[in-house]
Amino acid sequence: MQITEIYKSIQGESTHAGLPCVFVRLTGCNLRCTWCDSEYTFFGGHRMSLEGVLEEVEQFSPHGGLVEITGGEPMLQERELVPLMQRLLDAGYTVLLETSGERLLERVPKGVIKIVDVKCPGSGEGDTFLMKNLEAMESQDELKFVLSDRSDYEFARDFVARHQLARRVNAVLFSPAFRKEATGTRNTSHCLLDPQELVEWMLADHVPARLNLQIHKFVWDPALKGV
Ligand code: SF4
Repeated sequence: MQITEIYKSIQGESTHAGLPCVFVRLTGCNLRCTWCDSEYTFFGGHRMSLEGVLEEVEQFSPHGGLVEITGGEPMLQERELVPLMQRLLDAGYTVLLETSGERLLERVPKGVIKIVDVKCPGSGEGDTFLMKNLEAMESQDELKFVLSDRSDYEFARDFVARHQLARRVNAVLFSPAFRKEATGTRNTSHCLLDPQELVEWMLADHVPARLNLQIHKFVWDPALKGV
């Protein structure tokens, strides 16, 4: 499979935020979100065998733990990725799959925790969420909305209510989008949507969602990759 990078850091998002995690970042994406912070994954990378990826994960984390499969869009390499995720599960790892929600997820092995985006209009990729994926969501999974402005918030709020998402998954995540050119200071001034404003809206509307800040962008320079 085509791999951009494998590294160990802390998990920056989701209900697993703050935990040590090995990231396996696959190359390539078929979407072009306006605020994407992973454009360096669109091209390049290097070929690795399934065994090679497993060996590298094991070197970073020999005694199990958390592994996140991310990208780019990892499900573009589904044929090789599905067996890799199964092997990681069999080896005792907790496996997270971060995916755009545009690819069919029904072949993802049971036991993998899916963290699935529902793209909002401000991403420039609204309407790409595959509605059939709602049926593939399980109680351990998480659905994420990255929000640029009030219109995105209202889209997410209404989508959560219409499809009763809080009953379907472990967590519904509302995440303020980060400016992709953000660098230097590590604070919320880089958020396209002020987290304080977002929280006030969520509380006023009784939205059953969790505020999701990308904590790695507050630990390191937001422009730093591979952390
Ligand atoms: S789906 Fe993810 S990797 Fe692809 S363009 Fe959007 S944010 Fe970037």
